[in-house]
Amino acid sequence: MLKTDVVIIGAGPTGLALACQLIRYGIDFVIIDKKEGTTPFSRAIGVQARTLEIYDQIGLADDLISLGHTAEKVKFLKDGVVRGEANLSELGVGLSPFPFVLLVEQGLHEELLYKFITDNKQDVLWRHELLSFTDDGDGVSANIKRADGSEFTVQAKYLVGCDGAKSDVRHALGLTFEGDTVERLFYVADVELDWPHGHDALQINLGENTLTAFFPLKGENRWRLVGTFPEGHKKDESDIPYEEIDAQIEHDMGVKLDIKKVNWFSVYNVHSRAVNAFSRGRCLVAGDAAHIHTPAGAQGMNTGIQDGYNLAWKLALVLQNAADETLLATYNEERLRNAKNLLSTTDRIFEFAASDEWLVSFVRNNVFPYVFGTALSFDIVKSKLFSIVSQIGISYAGQSLSLQSGDFAIAAGDRMPWFTMDGTSIYESLKEPQFHLLAFGADEAVHGEISAAMDAKWRSETVILSLPLSGEVKKAFGSESPFLVLLRPDNYIGYLSDDLSSAKLNKYIDSVSFL
Ligand SMILES: Cc1cc2nc3c(=O)[nH]c(=O)nc-3n(C[C@H](O)[C@H](O)[C@H](O)COP(=O)(O)OP(=O)(O)OC[C@H]3O[C@@H](n4cnc5c(N)ncnc54)[C@H](O)[C@@H]3O)c2cc1C
Repeated sequence: MLKTDVVIIGAGPTGLALACQLIRYGIDFVIIDKKEGTTPFSRAIGVQARTLEIYDQIGLADDLISLGHTAEKVKFLKDGVVRGEANLSELGVGLSPFPFVLLVEQGLHEELLYKFITDNKQDVLWRHELLSFTDDGDGVSANIKRADGSEFTVQAKYLVGCDGAKSDVRHALGLTFEGDTVERLFYVADVELDWPHGHDALQINLGENTLTAFFPLKGENRWRLVGTFPEGHKKDESDIPYEEIDAQIEHDMGVKLDIKKVNWFSVYNVHSRAVNAFSRGRCLVAGDAAHIHTPAGAQGMNTGIQDGYNLAWKLALVLQNAADETLLATYNEERLRNAKNLLSTTDRIFEFAASDEWLVSFVRNNVFPYVFGTALSFDIVKSKLFSIVSQIGISYAGQSLSLQSGDFAIAAGDRMPWFTMDGTSIYESLKEPQFHLLAFGADEAVHGEISAAMDAKWRSETVILSLPLSGEVKKAFGSESPFLVLLRPDNYIGYLSDDLSSAKLNKYIDSVSFL
């Protein structure tokens, strides 16, 4: 029998990223996967800015960026002719240190996370399969099968099912997975292709009733092609040879493709579903086990990684007796709302991209390519679009851990906005997995009063920083006068107030279950 604090089932991107976060907090865990190792496939290629911000805290962002490629532009083509284009390289400038979407293969991404785990003297138990588990209220016993068929038990305080869309954990917990299956079959293919329209742009090829997207991958002439078969196409996912994909793309685009090599392809059904709860008792679910989406917007993997990021600090505080167990209920509260919002966004984008309804298809093919570039020249459109796609706009405003008093341009529950101070990223001061109390524009007396009024326990969990009320700060928060920000360890704003006294702050601390 193995004893641990957290047993993670599944070492896809969600499980691996959760393990990396638990390492940050010094939490003991066991992670298992029935596969032999990290995925050899390219699967999810879109890595969003919020994911890179998280990775930057553990020194992985630059390494991941070096493995990938960014699409500087998007081009819209019809019948092989460019009809419009827009610059994507500036999309998130001023909003994130990573103002782009990174394209990197999931296999390479998983390898990097796995290396972080082994560099920290931990490992995944590959070829180990969860057979069953029981939760007795004080802990969870997981029955695991090794590759040689022998079985053993892992005794943990918590179990997290990161075991993908068909999650055994979700089924065993009796959680529902409501939503729809998209009528059309999707295909993806990673190919080497001679393509005359450059390798620096995401290319959207508009067809009559659909579109085909070409994503540039790192390496000469390497592309990811994504599209759909028409409704009513034969339904067996495993029964479609690559030649049919090729024929479909050429049909939809109205051009002949010069494909030199097919490195990987897959045909799959797309679902849009979410659980009714992210946890039951001492067992929780994260990633595809909890929500699956259409590929529109490259959100799925990124959302799973952020489920783990949200959960890790809460598990850590509870396991270290620094918070009441009720804190874990906020994982369900925050991530369930986020998953539901996401389903409606990805469904809407997909509907626009693949609808064969006359008006939608007319706008998509004849209006959108021409106006998109112009629309992106407006800062408000650019920042709105980037906030949604990059996931920096995810907010827990109005939920249990968020409290605000005073008028600001952002809300308690939002991610800490990014800006620079004297040319240095504010995030450089926020990398430690701790609470940060930021006193903007407060004088030394305020700093001293707050510090003295904090009880010793919560002072030891929190870094207090007095920072100037610079122009960047005023702009980011929309405030001209001094204010306090209490950041949770995941750098979301828990408390935001123009009241600099410790009394209100302490009241907030008392009202939530941490510290
Ligand atoms: C073709 C394609 C393109 C995509 N593109 C994007 C994109 O660009 N951006 C994006 O964000 N998302 C994208 N996605 C979605 C993304 O791949 C998934 O959201 C992501 O892989 C989910 O990660 P996960 O770790 O939650 O689940 P998975 O990757 O499915 O991992 C689950 C793991 O659990 C293991 N497991 C299952 N059951 C057990 C058990 N009983 N015992 C032990 N181990 C078990 C499995 O072996 C597996 O390794 C794409 C998906 C596909 C298929």
